[in-house]
Amino acid sequence: MEEGQLEPRQPCFLKKKGYRITLLDQATFPRDKVCGEFISPAADDIFSDLGILESINALNPTRLCGVALSSYESSYLQIDYPNTVDGRTMTSLSVERSMLDNLMINQVRNSSIQLMEGFKVTDLVLDGGNVCGVKGHDETKTKFSIKAKVVIDGGGRNSISLRRLNLRRGSPGKGKIALAAHWEGVKGLGRYCYMHISHPGYTGIAPVGYNRANIVLVVDRNYLVGVNVEQFFMTTVLGNRLRKRMLGSGIPVEKIRTVDSLAYSVKKIRCGGLLLVGDATGFIDPFTGEGIYLSLRSSQLAVGVVKNAFDKSDFSSRQLQSYDLIRQKEFRKKNILSKVLQRLIYKPYLCNRVVETLGTQKELSSLLVGVIGDYMPANKVVCFQYLLRLLGGMLNQRQPSFLPTKYRPPTKEF
Ligand SMILES: Cc1cc2nc3c(=O)[nH]c(=O)nc-3n(C[C@H](O)[C@H](O)[C@H](O)COP(=O)(O)OP(=O)(O)OC[C@H]3O[C@@H](n4cnc5c(N)ncnc54)[C@H](O)[C@@H]3O)c2cc1C
Repeated sequence: MEEGQLEPRQPCFLKKKGYRITLLDQATFPRDKVCGEFISPAADDIFSDLGILESINALNPTRLCGVALSSYESSYLQIDYPNTVDGRTMTSLSVERSMLDNLMINQVRNSSIQLMEGFKVTDLVLDGGNVCGVKGHDETKTKFSIKAKVVIDGGGRNSISLRRLNLRRGSPGKGKIALAAHWEGVKGLGRYCYMHISHPGYTGIAPVGYNRANIVLVVDRNYLVGVNVEQFFMTTVLGNRLRKRMLGSGIPVEKIRTVDSLAYSVKKIRCGGLLLVGDATGFIDPFTGEGIYLSLRSSQLAVGVVKNAFDKSDFSSRQLQSYDLIRQKEFRKKNILSKVLQRLIYKPYLCNRVVETLGTQKELSSLLVGVIGDYMPANKVVCFQYLLRLLGGMLNQRQPSFLPTKYRPPTKEF
């Protein structure tokens, strides 16, 4: 059997099924990538399935026991991941992307998958309206063309399929941009992913090693017009007094990196021979930090569909469309939750009230982090019952209480 594709994660799943696989990436590894570097607890099982959990653990990565959330310096909430129904204690991985992605590519290098680094795909090869390969060029601009029964496009937010087949649906929101840097000398962090919502955007802070933190700030793109990016980043990050206290005498140890961070959805594919995985299937705002898990999970789902296609020797869009259905069934409610949270965080009064209420309703807040951690079903939160309990809790709060200036959120220290 022969199969050509482009994407860093799927090959290992597929390899286990015995197909002939080519993996193309325009980058040569190790390469870095702007990311919150905070990975849903549910990803552990997939890493284990891929056979790389041990190597990840050998990096001695930071493990987080929950999420800490502050809203407009007014309300604060710290939630531990609840145990799974079978009593497992859950933690999330916090590991630098350059290390994680390199580890995955090493797994590919040590397999019989043909790895082609530095190969940029510039177009899909089409035959009778179906995809039957990819073409492009290498770093020396030498052209290549590869035929394949199935192409799996995991090219991320700039995936060639999105552009070539005009699949991307614009987001109605304003353009968002993320600014990120690793900091060192940060001594005030516990084992949590810290999400601080405040004007003019939000930050995600994840401890990624001893006194080392990854800080990502997401704001409307127009805030950066005509300003010094480094200065803007520092002033905004330290302008929030909780962050300032937490970061102490820490400083960025690299140039501030920026990346577009606009959510979008993707239209249905009308041709056969092609599947999309990861960010190529759509991008949710990184506030809930689930992108890596969604990418891994969509790849797992795609593999089941590819296997059926090979079994039936049928790579038509009709055969492959079951992938869209399975994925939508699994992710639809999570996407709704992500969109609701996106709207909420830009409404200060409401956001404060919700965070306060969740602070007093442990069951509701635990459910929320379990769902965001991808190991509890989203319908536990995206349902009328949850909404009613939340609203009831909000109504029972007499007045929004504001934190005293010297309030220090509790942390579990390293
Ligand atoms: C600011 C920000 C913060 C985030 N924080 C988090 C977080 O904390 N936790 C989390 O889970 N997720 C986070 N995400 C989301 C996460 O980064 C993505 O969801 C995840 O990387 C998607 O993986 P992917 O494999 O689909 O795409 P990518 O990781 O983008 O990989 C795509 C690969 O395709 C290659 N490629 C692209 N085009 C071509 C081409 N034409 N030819 C050949 N190769 C090509 C690229 O070189 C790359 O290696 C964040 C995203 C942003 C923007």
